[in-house]
Amino acid sequence: MDETLSPPSSPTTTIAFMRILVVEDERKTADYLHKGLTENGYVVDVALQGDDGLHLALEELYDLVILDVNLPGRDGWSVLQSLRRAGRQTPVLFLTASDGVESRVKGLDLGADDYLVKPFAFSELLARVRSILRRGPARQPELLVVADLELDLPRHKAARAGRRLDLTPKEFALLALLARRKGEVLSRTLIAELVWEMHFDSDTNVVDVAVRRLRGKVDDDFEFKLIRTVRGVGYVLEDR
Ligand code: CA
Repeated sequence: MDETLSPPSSPTTTIAFMRILVVEDERKTADYLHKGLTENGYVVDVALQGDDGLHLALEELYDLVILDVNLPGRDGWSVLQSLRRAGRQTPVLFLTASDGVESRVKGLDLGADDYLVKPFAFSELLARVRSILRRGPARQPELLVVADLELDLPRHKAARAGRRLDLTPKEFALLALLARRKGEVLSRTLIAELVWEMHFDSDTNVVDVAVRRLRGKVDDDFEFKLIRTVRGVGYVLEDR
């Protein structure tokens, strides 16, 4: 692939669709995490209770769950256990007040990916978050391949049937989102939120316009169409 066609992109474009769920009952800590992570380009949801956290973690797709262990009602262990039992492999970083070995072992045994002992510096949390999100090809593949479509995520390059696609940063982010969630119908609202960081659905027309342009580049020259419209719902990228 040549180097000339890739437009320079801001870091936010790369991580705009990384979603993090924070489950933390202490409002101050929750607000602090929400603010700090949002400032670093992540899309953040907060749940103040274990039940709400579990519900969100099962209903939505997150790249990471930051989970406080000591929660009233359903505690963090129970949330983690239920999540794994439901077959969800969403990475989990748990927050524990105790530095006890037992607590750490328990969390990792239950399937957490990492932990942090309170109190912690935000910079440390951010380093852990980045490390978890970078880890493992299954979770953060550098190369996404769907049928004859190839997306080189770090280099922001896309090709179909070996032919380079000249995409804008937003088009690339949109295509990467659809490819990462291959087979899943994504609503206009969700796409608008994750790619454009618009948190309301007043102007999801921007999504339709972008998808139309993207199709012109990705699908028009090919008999097999990857991007499909699901009437009344949204868009899906499918390889069959
Ligand atoms: Ca707590």
